Amino acid sequence: MVYKISLITGDGIGPELSESAVSILNTIHDKLDLKFDVTKLSAGDKALAETGKALPDDVVNTIKQSDACLKAPVGESAADVIVVLRRMLDLYANIRPAKSYPHMPALRDDIDMVIVRENTEDLYTGKEFSLGNAAVALRIISESASKRIAKYAFETAKQRDSMRKVTCVHKSNVMRVTDGLFAKSCIEVSKDYPDIIFEEMYVDACAMNLIRQPEQFDVVVTTNLFGDILSDESSQVVGGLGMAPAANIGDDFALFEPVHGAAFDIAGQNIANPSSFLLSIKMMLDWLGNKHNDSKCIAVGEKLESTIFDLVKTGVKTKDIGGDMSTSEFTKQITDNL
Ligand code: ATP
Repeated sequence: MVYKISLITGDGIGPELSESAVSILNTIHDKLDLKFDVTKLSAGDKALAETGKALPDDVVNTIKQSDACLKAPVGESAADVIVVLRRMLDLYANIRPAKSYPHMPALRDDIDMVIVRENTEDLYTGKEFSLGNAAVALRIISESASKRIAKYAFETAKQRDSMRKVTCVHKSNVMRVTDGLFAKSCIEVSKDYPDIIFEEMYVDACAMNLIRQPEQFDVVVTTNLFGDILSDESSQVVGGLGMAPAANIGDDFALFEPVHGAAFDIAGQNIANPSSFLLSIKMMLDWLGNKHNDSKCIAVGEKLESTIFDLVKTGVKTKDIGGDMSTSEFTKQITDNL
């Protein structure tokens, strides 16, 4: 099988990371005999300037016809690209792992947790308006979406080789109706999983505990905005945004992207860490392999991760994690070692 991959090349450091991703996919294609047909797509600030639309219709059509989408970070128009795609394709589960790698300048070197973020509701539905001299945003939480993401979190905990625990993070003492519903939905779903430990935690306590005792977390399930903030924090605990991949998963389709944004402050300098995007490719291979019952695809994903892992262990690193390698040099080391 040849996997059709749509690749949004993005803004800021996006094109540099995309070059790195294409080079890895080509190497896998040539050396490991796993075939890809990659179509590069333009969406984001550049597409907006050139076509008047941040997410042109033909880009959406090409994504829909592919087996999976890789998305490099997009700049100011991110909400018009990724938030729209998540809702349009019903990619309801945003999976953001935080895993320690050896020899990283990290707060902790023994962490293996994952944030399961609800991806379609909360304050991200774009329902904002002015009312007199005030500005109002609607926070939408439904029982169906909350139960769906809770189920995904428990299934994730079941499959992980870890402490089998789900922590539901919310702020129901203040947002009694919306987060009250989210917490209640998670509690109800937890009853179907008696073998998985379940706990609730307020979001402020979670933010503190991610620094104080991050080893207590296994799977964190939370709403859209809290998940966005907590995953930036958890990535820093294990070594920073340059090492943080993410997946947006629906029932039939999935999109993979780094947790970080377009990082305009380092764009065009060939110094960005491509690991976040390359580890997103690992997540994509895992998802494709499971979907198509393709054990080779899963094995290649594991090989890609261990190659990055081993390289960092030998001290070969990009600038953000204490090394001096450029994006292209680091990528070349991985393609040589694959
Ligand atoms: P967004 O709001 O779109 O998520 P942001 O404003 O939070 O974006 P990022 O673009 O995520 O900002 O970058 C935050 C910081 O992390 C910046 O200083 C940036 O240079 C650094 N950074 C992000 N990604 C990488 C990377 N892949 N390699 C090295 N440094 C990175």
